[in-house]
Amino acid sequence: MKKSMSKKSLPYKIDLTEIEGDGSFPCPKCGTVISPEDETEQVYKIVETKLINDELVELVIMCSNCGSKIKLTGFEATIEGLPTR
Ligand SMILES: [Zn+2]
Repeated sequence: MKKSMSKKSLPYKIDLTEIEGDGSFPCPKCGTVISPEDETEQVYKIVETKLINDELVELVIMCSNCGSKIKLTGFEATIEGLPTR
C-alpha cells in the first residue's frame, strides 16, 4: 500500500447536467470529442462505474487519445436516501 495519490493531479470532472445537446464533450486536455453514446470504446475507455441502487451515478473514463481520466457526474439519477442539498 504505497500509493501517494496526493501528488497526482485529480481526474478532470465533467458535469453532464451542464452539457447541452447529445451529451458529447471535448476532452479537457486534448479536445477529442467524447460522446457517452459511443460505445465502441475507440475514443474512450470506461475505467470505473459507480452505481447506487442500480442507477449510474458516476463514471470514470479514460481518453484513448491522451490518457486523461475524466470523471463524469450529473447523470439524471434521482437518488433517494442520499443526503442531497
Ligand atoms: Zn484526451
